[in-house]
Amino acid sequence: MSPRPSRYSGPQMQYFIETYGCQMNKAESAALEIIFRDHGWSPAPTPAAADLVLINTCSVRVTAENRAWGRIDHYAAEKRARAAEGRRLALVVTGCMAERMKREVKERQSAVDYVVGTFQKQAFGLVLDAVESGRELGEIEESPAFVFAKSYYEPGNFRSFLPIMHGCDNFCTYCIVPYLRGREISRSPADILAELDALEDSGVREVTLLGQNVNSYRHRDEGGHELDFPALLRHIALHLKARGRGGIRWIRFLTSHPKDLSDTLIDVIAEEPLFCRHVHLCVQSGSDRILAAMNRKYDSAAYRALVERLRARIPDLSLSTDILVGFPGETEEDNDATLALMRDVGFSYAYMYHYNPREGTPAAAMPNRVPDKVKKARLAKVIELQKEMTRSLMEGRIGAVDEVLIESVSRRRKSEVLGRTQRDEMVVFPAPPSRVGDFAKVRLLSLSGNTFRGEEILS
Ligand code: SF4
Repeated sequence: MSPRPSRYSGPQMQYFIETYGCQMNKAESAALEIIFRDHGWSPAPTPAAADLVLINTCSVRVTAENRAWGRIDHYAAEKRARAAEGRRLALVVTGCMAERMKREVKERQSAVDYVVGTFQKQAFGLVLDAVESGRELGEIEESPAFVFAKSYYEPGNFRSFLPIMHGCDNFCTYCIVPYLRGREISRSPADILAELDALEDSGVREVTLLGQNVNSYRHRDEGGHELDFPALLRHIALHLKARGRGGIRWIRFLTSHPKDLSDTLIDVIAEEPLFCRHVHLCVQSGSDRILAAMNRKYDSAAYRALVERLRARIPDLSLSTDILVGFPGETEEDNDATLALMRDVGFSYAYMYHYNPREGTPAAAMPNRVPDKVKKARLAKVIELQKEMTRSLMEGRIGAVDEVLIESVSRRRKSEVLGRTQRDEMVVFPAPPSRVGDFAKVRLLSLSGNTFRGEEILS
């Protein structure tokens, strides 16, 4: 698409975006980037060269917000320094923190020009018009219809992220997302397929379908016909086959809620080689009492049974997870139950955190908070066990032959490349830089930290 001519006729304006948090935020930054470019703006090589800095914030943890404040204050100082020299800098804040603290952001840091919430992104073009013309824009209106973020990929990376749904209806008691992102909205299959086509045409080989809870994807068309997540996956597989380009060969999806992962979905993954042999299945805790307090809507037996069904149908599947330690009321026995579940399942890796109260969530008002020292000690145990398990699972893979998508040239040696298997394992092996973007068959030879060293099998 050619850029929409801007009404602004001065020198070309430049933007700089800092994105924090989840893949969804990255997708939303990519969507905003399209609006910048449509307005004739270009990316600034450094923040110092930018006319506008956009900070896309995360609110999931207090530390994420503190970091955002640090960046906002940093650019506020830069803005004041420029003002002393008669130069301007526009500072715009968006993302979950902007949604959570719409008014507070400007009250606390007056250097911020605009705060754009989740349902205000349709007005982003007006923000750019205002910055270009140097005039003040009044209150930004909320849109009744959510505007979906677009897929994004880093050029040369051959992997892309494609949002298929937005929001979350689950209300886990520790999580702020449903309050900030709103209820679940599923994108139309026609939109998703059109974007997949565009990605395939631009050379993408692997796509990750994104959503806070992709398993509850459900789209109803005007005729009342419903499409759920397994049906969407079948639809995608058929569509790409019929298209016949063979460009996109792997599809992943993030994030899966155990309560919504159906047997039909397991069948689709098992039957369609397009879908990668890896599922990120957040468990959070191995204690039934804590899972109930978290409002996760499954217990540890249901989780174990689901893992069994997945492994029975897809024996080469790797599973990763999120674990949240030190939830209010958690005892040493609860933590032991988490360790036991980890041993039983054998996650290939895990994102492990200790609980911090999130203002505005039910858990923040729960009694029996676990002292910091205890949370940290429990988390250390969880991390230690996961490290051991990752190591032993990886050692068990030495000698295996698997396919990788070559993602980049190795940073250490220019004569080597870095690839990723379907199971989300990183492999470094000798190959020329021209192979980036290709698939290759490799034998896993040894381990260097959490990366395999391998050799390509040329048949
Ligand atoms: S499933 Fe739970 S943790 Fe995940 S986004 Fe929804 S409420 Fe938050």
